[in-house]
Amino acid sequence: MRGLIWFRRDLRLADQPALSAACAECDEVIPLFVFDDPLLRSREFGAACVNFMLGSLRELAASLEARGLALQWRRGDPIEEVVRAAHDWNADVVYWNRDYEPRAIRRDQLVQQELERRGIIVKTFKDQVVFESQDIRGATGKPLQRYSAYRARWWTQWSLHKPRALPVPAALSSAKQAMRPPSRPLPSAEELGYASLVPWIEPGEQQARKQLRRFCEGPLHCYSTGRNIPSIEGTSKLSPHFRFGTISPRTAILAALHTLEKGRPGVSRPDVFLWIDELIWREFFQQILTEFPHVVSGPFRQTVALPVRERDQERDRLFQAWCEGKTGYPIVDAGMRQLRQTGWMHNRVRMIVASFLVKDLRIDWQSGEQYFMAHLLDADVGANNGNWQWCASTGTDAMRGYRIFNPALQSKKFDPEGLYIRRYVPELASVPTAKIHEPHLMPLGEQADARCRIGIDYPAPIVDHRLAREEYLALGKRERVP
Ligand SMILES: Cc1cc2nc3c(=O)[nH]c(=O)nc-3n(C[C@H](O)[C@H](O)[C@H](O)COP(=O)(O)OP(=O)(O)OC[C@H]3O[C@@H](n4cnc5c(N)ncnc54)[C@H](O)[C@@H]3O)c2cc1C
Repeated sequence: MRGLIWFRRDLRLADQPALSAACAECDEVIPLFVFDDPLLRSREFGAACVNFMLGSLRELAASLEARGLALQWRRGDPIEEVVRAAHDWNADVVYWNRDYEPRAIRRDQLVQQELERRGIIVKTFKDQVVFESQDIRGATGKPLQRYSAYRARWWTQWSLHKPRALPVPAALSSAKQAMRPPSRPLPSAEELGYASLVPWIEPGEQQARKQLRRFCEGPLHCYSTGRNIPSIEGTSKLSPHFRFGTISPRTAILAALHTLEKGRPGVSRPDVFLWIDELIWREFFQQILTEFPHVVSGPFRQTVALPVRERDQERDRLFQAWCEGKTGYPIVDAGMRQLRQTGWMHNRVRMIVASFLVKDLRIDWQSGEQYFMAHLLDADVGANNGNWQWCASTGTDAMRGYRIFNPALQSKKFDPEGLYIRRYVPELASVPTAKIHEPHLMPLGEQADARCRIGIDYPAPIVDHRLAREEYLALGKRERVP
């Protein structure tokens, strides 16, 4: 039997259910990747994300090549290209791992229909998450809308099913490739219409494993404190790897739990479980996307959306200042500059900048969501949308208008010495620590000493946080949010 395996968000060999099934069932295997031209043209994702994907694909192609398989690639509309490839290469079965974005679900349904119409079998697998939305339900069979309930049910399912990771398929080396056209080099980022750059987080399956090992050996066991300090390596930085499937969530969770079995000193059970909670958040937002696809274009709860600024020059000026990291709030500016420079931003800072955009500047959260998608290495519709809605208080665990971050207090708490701020906002490098969180409070003499004149070298705050907060809360009361 001849099988075509369509790689998508699963660019690895280990614990890859579609690949394992294809290798077990077929004597000829053809690996395929399709560059989705309409999606690339939409510019929804940015150069950071595209370069990470390309780097991961290069490694995947080399790993397959070492086992005698040439990764085939095509470029165009995936619906047409997958069907054409299966037809051209006389595939009996097409294998892929499931995707949960509404757009991808529609695409996959169309591909499946077209293939089955031609008598080609389609086999799909659970991969991106440990549990799909239908695996985690409330007592009435409905999807759960509260994270706490979802998390409890997730752990029940984990205990019941005891998930295991699949090894790299042993049959991979002996699976003959049906046809071996001369292997073509993968396109460059420029050929895909994007700037070429070296991703700030190294791509590929091997790097993902290395990063997971490094994290499990140290930072994991002080995650509860380390995860909030943006100036240190307190988190795993695995998010782009989960995004492109260079490592599976099962592998990561099992590795984290395994550290507890070793019984070595310094191991912290609460920290391990806190980290796994974050991966459960990821799955929670994926299932919200599947079950409530309206979140892609609007609030999860219509009733909690507060009015936002009209689109005018002032709104555009404020939004531009936020994007460029020139708001006069050092922690916000450091975060937005980290994003522009590296394609990544620390989670604590993501929350601060999102709250600032929505609640201090009163700009629609969708503008922030779109900007993040276009700049993040780990740009992921489920996690990005779910978190933006959480920060805008329109999401599942909405706390109405009351979750308003105070940027100066947040930075005093989580970046007390201003190490993170100084790294990304060099104009503030010489500002004394006592003033680093609110440099506009420096008297003129101090500004001169610090070589940082407010309004010249570094902006004055574009809004007054205290007033903006009061206005936002008053708006909430006036709208009588239920
Ligand atoms: C406004 C906003 C937008 C975001 N957009 C994205 C996005 O597009 N893609 C993305 O992967 N994450 C997004 N996040 C979540 C989070 O910031 C990143 O997942 C995290 O910073 C990645 O760093 P890490 O891998 O070191 O995380 P770790 O702390 O090591 O966590 C491990 C993994 O858990 C998952 N995770 C962690 N926090 C969250 C969370 N709050 N929600 C969902 N999953 C989480 C990620 O897959 C992460 O890799 C966003 C958060 C906010 C506040």
